[in-house]
Amino acid sequence: MAAITPLHPGPLRFEGGLTEVGPGLHAWLQPNGLLGESNAGLVVGDGASLLVDTLWDPRLTRRTLAAMAPLIEKAPIQTLVNTHSDGDHWWGNQEVSAAEIIATEAARAVMEDESPAEMNRFGALARALRLAGSLPVPYPRRGDVAAIAAYVSELLAPFGFDEVRLVPPTRTFSGELALDVSGREVRLIEVGPAHTAGDLIVWVPDAKVAIAADVLFIGITPIMWAGPLEGWIAALERLLGLGAERFVPGHGPVCGHEEVRRLIDYWRWLEEAAGQRLAAGNSPAETARELVLGDEIAERGFADWLAPERALVSVGTVDAHRRGVARPLGPRGLIAAFFRMALLARDLEERRGSRRARAGGKLNEPEGR
Ligand SMILES: [Zn+2]
Repeated sequence: MAAITPLHPGPLRFEGGLTEVGPGLHAWLQPNGLLGESNAGLVVGDGASLLVDTLWDPRLTRRTLAAMAPLIEKAPIQTLVNTHSDGDHWWGNQEVSAAEIIATEAARAVMEDESPAEMNRFGALARALRLAGSLPVPYPRRGDVAAIAAYVSELLAPFGFDEVRLVPPTRTFSGELALDVSGREVRLIEVGPAHTAGDLIVWVPDAKVAIAADVLFIGITPIMWAGPLEGWIAALERLLGLGAERFVPGHGPVCGHEEVRRLIDYWRWLEEAAGQRLAAGNSPAETARELVLGDEIAERGFADWLAPERALVSVGTVDAHRRGVARPLGPRGLIAAFFRMALLARDLEERRGSRRARAGGKLNEPEGR
């Protein structure tokens, strides 16, 4: 099989493509698990299959389905499960539109507000900023504009939203739903709100595999859009208690129990470290900055997870829950979040660069990337 290269620039961190995780259970893995580098799953029954998630755009979804073609030839996809409302898990639904499409009621409610046109406008804004950042005239914060433009345009570059025609779920549920995929039991378990408002995990007992989607980020810093944080930890503990041997994350490589526990460690650390600073009156932005640029993140072993700047969004969510004002970000809030993450990512790179310089260039390994 052709090697799957990362969509975003950077060295390959794990093997991608289609892989059999358990008997008749396959994962499509997209390295390196950054924004839009999302995974999908396939449960193959005797005559019918169930697909877990599509990709962020039709082209990427068609590539995944092409790789799955030998598996679904005699077991067509009759059911598609969308694990949550983020576009990189369902904006390719049009490629599987004949299937019954299932999501939680809470996810479906958010999906109704999604807009590929909005994402295209965001991309256009980034291109305009890139132009502004490159103009040969000095103006205040020009460096910030250039950093934001580079960050956002790079994030959106691999994806094509023009072709996207949103096909929302046709069936919803709350709590749990047991499905029969040609004789195989597949259980959908609602664990949100956590990462988003309506997260679910897919548990396949006969394969001892759980497809955890974005309740699990492995090797990549998780991002908590909805929260509460305790809800995410409860979801991870639920995963650990299923009796699964392997887990398919929404982003990153297939993993076992240890990696799930590490993610719980990250959330407990963030809860405590951010909680203290917020209680002392620091703003969420200051708090996230201290956590991401400080020494503790490396001491705890979380600095080599990609995109540490995502803590900005998670700390903002923690703060909103503390103050009882948690609500969806909306398009403007989302743009503001990406702008802030861009600047923090730049400052983190600068800090790492100066640490390397202080170390006298003796470090061969780039610190924490
Ligand atoms: Zn997500």
